[in-house]
Amino acid sequence: MELSPQLARKFETLQNSYPAKRSALIPMLMYAQDEHGFVSDEMIEEIARRLDLNTVQVTETLVYYSMLRRKPLGKYHVQICTNVSCMLQGGYGLLEHAKRRLEIGHKEVTQDGVFSLEEVECLGACTGAPCMQVNYDYFENLTTEAFDRIIEYLDLGRNPEPVQVISGALHPRHPAETPLISKLWGIRDSHKIDVYVQHEGYAGLKKAVTEMTPDAIIEEVKTSNLRGRGGAGFPTGMKWSFVPKDSPKPKYVICNADESEPGTCKDRPLMEMDPHQLIEGIIIAGRAINAHQGFIYIRGEYRYVLNIVERAIEEAYSRGYLGQNILGSGFDFDLLIHTGAGAYECGEESALMESLEGKRGYPRIKPPFPAIVGLYGCPTIINNVETLSAVPAIIREGGEAYANRGTRKNGGTRLVCVSGNISKPGIYEVPLGFNMKRFIEEVAGGVQDGRKLKAVIPGGSSCPLLKADEIDIPMDYDSVAKAGSMLGSGGMVIVDEDVCMVDLARRIMQFYAHESCGWCIPCREGTAWLRKMLERFHAGAGRPEDIPLMGELAKNMLGKTFCPLGDAAAMPTISIVEKWRHEFEEHLHGHCAYKSAEALVRSR
Ligand code: SF4
Repeated sequence: MELSPQLARKFETLQNSYPAKRSALIPMLMYAQDEHGFVSDEMIEEIARRLDLNTVQVTETLVYYSMLRRKPLGKYHVQICTNVSCMLQGGYGLLEHAKRRLEIGHKEVTQDGVFSLEEVECLGACTGAPCMQVNYDYFENLTTEAFDRIIEYLDLGRNPEPVQVISGALHPRHPAETPLISKLWGIRDSHKIDVYVQHEGYAGLKKAVTEMTPDAIIEEVKTSNLRGRGGAGFPTGMKWSFVPKDSPKPKYVICNADESEPGTCKDRPLMEMDPHQLIEGIIIAGRAINAHQGFIYIRGEYRYVLNIVERAIEEAYSRGYLGQNILGSGFDFDLLIHTGAGAYECGEESALMESLEGKRGYPRIKPPFPAIVGLYGCPTIINNVETLSAVPAIIREGGEAYANRGTRKNGGTRLVCVSGNISKPGIYEVPLGFNMKRFIEEVAGGVQDGRKLKAVIPGGSSCPLLKADEIDIPMDYDSVAKAGSMLGSGGMVIVDEDVCMVDLARRIMQFYAHESCGWCIPCREGTAWLRKMLERFHAGAGRPEDIPLMGELAKNMLGKTFCPLGDAAAMPTISIVEKWRHEFEEHLHGHCAYKSAEALVRSR
């Protein structure tokens, strides 16, 4: 097959970038699709030939990923999010408006082939809800009028201005905020290496490679009490210490930038406004475990962020912070950014490694854990963007100083992205242990339009919900767990008194049912049945016996699945059925006293 010179060059670079050729598969499919609009049979054959695979291997991987397609869509592919944060800000109304305006339905293409439309899951723009992507461009805080203007521009062949920096990241700092990893946000050209270096950038790396042993780095991170910011909250230094020192195999560092938990959008600004901080953290992690290769696995939708990070990696190579003999220390480290292709499941560390190896994102059975048997069967550490972005400050200022920014067992600061029915949606950096009620009321301005608070999702849609009288607690891992929920990914969603909790439970379950990889029965069947039951309830056709059955079914999923997705689906459902049971009972009589998401339409 004849490829354009650009695509041929890209393919050749990718084919030679990974320790195993097959790892290039998903990026090659994505870049091919970008140029051709879809992945044809001929392209599958071409990629298979280049990677020494057969076409079945390529196809069975391709069909797993929601962003990859086998037939062309419109020139402009309009994707509207209706997941929780967008739903609470009129995402469904916007979707219905889009269907009328474009005169097409979900996954349809206009007759002239200019537009196609798709209802999608969380795009990672929760603080700018409701949002949409057109191809890779983000448009946030949309009204129906703004949507029409964008479509008119595109129809005329003009370029509407997409979002450059995620909405809600740049706001006047509240006095209670303690910017550390977000301290460069808002500074002109903060993504460029000169600006980063002017603000103590790469000072931590210099110290790590010239003054510290790998063990000393791990000890410093242990002292900092840094816990994983991706959701699980596992102590970072301890995770690093599990990597065997005497293993003859290569070791790897992977940065998990597959931010896909609904309600969560704080890794995106960390990468778009301060990519060098992340790169520095990854190199230091590599030094700590004696790895010489790192990967950043970034979600497919974040293409413009990928471009920013890719340029930053090039800058770091050109200044000697990456590559051979870093800063004259004798330490070598290479870093590669790798695009995903749309699969929430790949946020789970073992599924992510499978995906990085060019396969479907199915989780692996644990143990063995990645620190022992990880990428390509070698010892690997995987940390989230926010976790690794905290590492330069820890090495620079010392673990103890970092720990003292938070509470005794929960060191440092935390980015909280707050969305939903809140007056000032945004991404704020506060010390761990900051009071949740005070955060919502003072820092984020309280519930939107003076309405009353009904519920809080503290850290992404997989967390059990808290009622309004349960939030006077410190925001640290242990206190939120004691209150019956989780700090999770830092994606806080505020739910006001007008929201129908049956509808909210339905939307949350719809997401997990959609994302279940189907490998284990409790997750595959449980999410499908719960979705059906919740849809039936919301449509006014629920049965009294369904209420306890839903709680029981969800409880039966807990701890019985290969990966945490089963728990993630069950936990919010259990909390909603238990805490807002009366709303389910009201629906039995065919009436809902609250606002349905479909009724919300944002207009000027
Ligand atoms: Fe797949 Fe769900 Fe099982 Fe995870 S819990 S492995 S997503 S079926």
